[in-house]
Amino acid sequence: MAIDALPKAELHLHLEGSIRPDTAIKLAARHGVTLKPEEVAARYNFSNFNGFLEMFKWVTSFLRTPDDYALITRQLCEELVRQNVVYAELTISAGVILRRTQNLEATVKAIREVTQSVPFVRLRTAFILDAARQFGPDPAKEVAVWAGKLQPLGVVAFGMGGDELAYPTINFRPAFDLARHDGLHIVCHAGEIGGPDSVREAIELLGAERIGHGIAVMRDAAFAETLATRRVVLEICPTSNLCTGALARQVEKADASLRDHPLPDFIKRGIAVTLSTDDPGMFHTDLLTEYSNVASLGVSTPHLVKLMEQSFHAAFLPPDEKRKYLVDFRAAADSAGLL
Ligand SMILES: [Zn+2]
Repeated sequence: MAIDALPKAELHLHLEGSIRPDTAIKLAARHGVTLKPEEVAARYNFSNFNGFLEMFKWVTSFLRTPDDYALITRQLCEELVRQNVVYAELTISAGVILRRTQNLEATVKAIREVTQSVPFVRLRTAFILDAARQFGPDPAKEVAVWAGKLQPLGVVAFGMGGDELAYPTINFRPAFDLARHDGLHIVCHAGEIGGPDSVREAIELLGAERIGHGIAVMRDAAFAETLATRRVVLEICPTSNLCTGALARQVEKADASLRDHPLPDFIKRGIAVTLSTDDPGMFHTDLLTEYSNVASLGVSTPHLVKLMEQSFHAAFLPPDEKRKYLVDFRAAADSAGLL
């Protein structure tokens, strides 16, 4: 597609979710565990959200040292450069790292060292530290404290993912208040497997500026209108929603397909949406595939270009840098005859 060559930004991207089956084998081997490809393939073959979380837990159990994180960061950055991604916000599952009593600061340093290295000079990265909701409010608070401390290493936001149905949202308010007070941006997974109220609570109780997924909004037209007016961003990851069964759950249809995805409708309603892969290594996708999938749903090229541009608008970049990325993007789209 013509848009493949345009500079891109990706905002909803879990570093650990970029681990491909072959990398899982490599990581396990580093720690003396021999995995057979068919065993890994079976693990990567999940059909619902809990299955996905189990698999995520299993794969990340082979991330034991900062150098393991460096390895997966290098692979992810190579992938991003290949797709002409010039800005990426990488979500790091800090909640998992702390729960395993690993050194979070050394890990973020190792990740940063790779992102700052020569081969990736054209790729700008920032980090989001993510709490796992199912671990509860106190561990989430611990992640928020660390996110504040690690801002000099490129951490720009605090977020929460994991099991959306665990614990009432209000319980996490102290963690999010603390992060905001420390000057961090706020993101939160909501409306992925939960309902529209989950999205509403993430915005109103936690102060989320961007919502991870938010596809449940399709079930509440009035709320969709409010969102469009308030310009809260929904980070949409269609392949993820298919793979985890989140879309099937929202549309109450076991054989839900891409055609059932609300993204084209969200665009029509004027909701600020961005496109991402979520966990590309686990869902066998990449950003180019996601844009091509959206095009296959009948979204026109001008709308695709707008969708791409939206990722730069919604980025947690300082205003002057954001302006520069937007100018460069428009210049590239213009010279490709896409404006
Ligand atoms: Zn996610």
